[in-house]
Amino acid sequence: MMCPCGAIVGRMLRIWVQVARGALALLTLLWCGLGAAHAGEGVGVGALPLGLGSSFAPGRILHGVTAHRLIHFTFDDGPDAKTTPQLLDELDAAGVKATFFFSASRFRDHSQRNAHARELALLVRQRGHGIGSHSVDHKRMRNMTPAQLHEQLDASDRLFTEIFGARTYLFRPPWGSHSAELDRMLSERADTMVLWNIGSDDWVIDNAQKLTTTFLRALPYLERTRGWGGGIVLMHDTHPWTVEAFPQIVAGLRARNCELLGTSEELYDIVDDLSWLAAADADATPARAQQLADRQAKLREQTRARCANASQ
Ligand SMILES: [Zn+2]
Repeated sequence: MMCPCGAIVGRMLRIWVQVARGALALLTLLWCGLGAAHAGEGVGVGALPLGLGSSFAPGRILHGVTAHRLIHFTFDDGPDAKTTPQLLDELDAAGVKATFFFSASRFRDHSQRNAHARELALLVRQRGHGIGSHSVDHKRMRNMTPAQLHEQLDASDRLFTEIFGARTYLFRPPWGSHSAELDRMLSERADTMVLWNIGSDDWVIDNAQKLTTTFLRALPYLERTRGWGGGIVLMHDTHPWTVEAFPQIVAGLRARNCELLGTSEELYDIVDDLSWLAAADADATPARAQQLADRQAKLREQTRARCANASQ
């Protein structure tokens, strides 16, 4: 009688192969799903590849100018091992999401320092903040040749993709220095240039208290002289005094809101996403007006409770 072992072993092998194939398929699905969840948020303009964070109409330049008291904080030049982790904690404590424009030279090689910067960049993303590119070499881009501009943008894309598995569609040129050629290139790449209308001066003021006072004075001044209620704030997460000033600035805005509540004025609304500043007041739709009114109503309620607690 022939031993049936061969047939049994053969059948077991076939089953094992099927199970292994199934497991592999599941792993692939999970891997792709994770990648898509990680990389795909907020993008999807036609056939564009998946991107990182927000994307707006290609060719847009966001300045942040608005008559509304909307504030969005942005931080340039990081991530920095000494200061960025502390800022992340301060942002969490304040319940604020910001946008970080990373200098990609910090990720250029795989030295230990750069590896740490890569980890920090991922951490910024995991903590829910927006991510943009601040070029690779942090040079003025206004007078760069097309080849030099391409080099900066391509290298930045490559480094961001290495870290995040996706590129970003947000770009902030160092010092806001740009040219018609750079504008055209960014538009072709479906990128949005993000500038700012409220400079914190944290590159000249190296004292947290002074930085806070200057910022809180600048807001009403800009509103009075230019009609800007708020906008996109430029700061640097690489300065310890900025990290120290940030919670004081938020506390100052919230204290100011207690006063504004009493006079029934619009409150300062710290928004988590650039899209609130991307909608220019000039093309405000009734839907946006309603959204802003809803936000103010909710903010008034929270502010009323907070200010009552603070005064007790
Ligand atoms: Zn910079």
